[in-house]
Amino acid sequence: MLPSPYNASRELTLGIIGGGQLAKMLAQAAYRLGLRVAILEHGADSPAGRMTQLEFPEGWNSPETLAAFIRASDLITLENEFVGPEVLDYIAQYRPVYPTPETVRRVRDKLTQKHTIAAVGIPVPSFAGVETPEEVLAFAQQHGFPLVLKTRTFGYDGYGNRTLATADQLPHAWAELRQRLPAGGLLVERFVPLQKELAVIVARNRHGEVAVYPCVETVQEDHVCRIVYAPAPIPERLRRQAQELAVACVEAIEGVGVFGIELFLDVDGQLFFNELAPRPHNSGHYTIEACYTSQFENAIRAVCNLPLGSPEMFVPAAVMVNLLGVRSGSGIPDSVLPALRVGKAWIHLYGKRESRLRRKMGHVTAVGNSLEEAYRTAWQAAEGIIW
Ligand code: ADP
Repeated sequence: MLPSPYNASRELTLGIIGGGQLAKMLAQAAYRLGLRVAILEHGADSPAGRMTQLEFPEGWNSPETLAAFIRASDLITLENEFVGPEVLDYIAQYRPVYPTPETVRRVRDKLTQKHTIAAVGIPVPSFAGVETPEEVLAFAQQHGFPLVLKTRTFGYDGYGNRTLATADQLPHAWAELRQRLPAGGLLVERFVPLQKELAVIVARNRHGEVAVYPCVETVQEDHVCRIVYAPAPIPERLRRQAQELAVACVEAIEGVGVFGIELFLDVDGQLFFNELAPRPHNSGHYTIEACYTSQFENAIRAVCNLPLGSPEMFVPAAVMVNLLGVRSGSGIPDSVLPALRVGKAWIHLYGKRESRLRRKMGHVTAVGNSLEEAYRTAWQAAEGIIW
């Protein structure tokens, strides 16, 4: 029987694999719901690890630490998809794990993920798994340039991607991605001429009950998400279509938990699936302040098999701005005072020890009667954090 936080003799402990900002915001929601939190991470003093006495900083490669983390937890979820499915299989022998190892297997490798999603009829840009540069050229003959070459695993914030305008760029891009990930094949796909990038968060519990958040627009800077506009400034018909696609994606992987689905809107107004994350997603941070139930709270409700909360926004508009590292060095800003003086913005600093160029160090959310109003407030606060 799946443990419930509300019929046990003691507080239920939610084990989270990963200790970054997503785990920190999950833990904040878990504490509010009366749960305890255990954190498994490679390294001490992570943003979430330092919030709990149940910190397991030797990571999942240490059998003793993994066993202690399992003992400390009543059920287990994850904040990133970098943990191997074999580790999840091991954990699942002892504790419920959501999303399940099967779901994580379907999405961890971007090639398997795209096959799974395409198989249920969701539009996906033409793609192929490739083992050699010659196979990329064969794909290009069929689909033309530009195209996008990607690592199948461990890609994030564009680190595993190269866009190729011509065949000349292939040897260099291939070598760079190989250096990043020496083993395993790569993925090649058609370059989609983008009108906008969209995202939808979906929570789904074990009964199959689903909560779908509004479709948002994400704006990337150098492949890293910089701004999120909620709701996306596109026709209502497209927003609804995006939500329907997102739910179909989560059902295709039999997902339990919370999922971030990234979509492309091309210049002709067509929607395509890009990728899916089996965890809370950067495009859903605005839900903390702008929706009745945040993505983090619904992630917890979903994995505990509790009724889901309403994903609806209770304000007309919200904007989130990511605070990206501008230097290498301390993760503590020099001043936050000008941002605090803005007054109507919510400031989240993740407490990462070290900053790096483009690293996500925090975010700011503001709401308003219009996207313009929310944007002005959020941007003013983001600029008021001095690094
Ligand atoms: P990551 O896992 O690093 O986030 P994505 O596959 O989401 O990688 O790609 C990162 C960004 O690169 C996307 O948000 C988009 O801006 C761009 N991109 C990726 N694939 C394509 C594509 N097929 N066509 C056009 N742009 C793309």
